[in-house]
Amino acid sequence: MTNWTGTGAHRTRTIEWQEGERYKTKSNGSCGRYVAVMAAKAECTCGWSKRGEDRADARWRARAHRATIAVATKDLAALVMLMSEHAIPFSLFPALRNLDDVARAAGDDATVQPHLADLRPILQQANRPWLYIEHPYIPRLIAAVEQADRWEPVGMIDSAKGWCERLASAHGVEFDQWLRKVTPEVDAA
Ligand SMILES: [Zn+2]
Repeated sequence: MTNWTGTGAHRTRTIEWQEGERYKTKSNGSCGRYVAVMAAKAECTCGWSKRGEDRADARWRARAHRATIAVATKDLAALVMLMSEHAIPFSLFPALRNLDDVARAAGDDATVQPHLADLRPILQQANRPWLYIEHPYIPRLIAAVEQADRWEPVGMIDSAKGWCERLASAHGVEFDQWLRKVTPEVDAA
């Protein structure tokens, strides 16, 4: 059996198995042969799993799932504190607990390395632009995550986005325009 890779709450492995076989012809017209069709997936001790195109792809997905990001300890601790007081889906409790563990283990360290897999879904719940004035660490953390993973914005939970859209239309502006108005500039540094 493959060993689990990684430390902490997210340790992954990849599995490959034969899903069937297909007949492979030869271009010169001579007899073909049957070749194995392989399938692969990545899985994590947290319960996450994802199919890959092949083993290399599954490894890539596993690595992406294990990725961590450096953020300010005080920002992470503030996020955990805020979201502990909010109603979040039960399925996100493990992610919040993992972030809490990372923040507590930091001690006096100014930066910590939480997993993106935990930080991203919690930030998605916290992504309420009208809270930014009170909680400036939220846009800071969102900017850090989006810089580390440029392909996928953090996004918002639907109810929050719907609320923003209603607010924007009450002000007679499009959602994007309204968002630019209410979102403070995030320091690039
Ligand atoms: Zn995991």
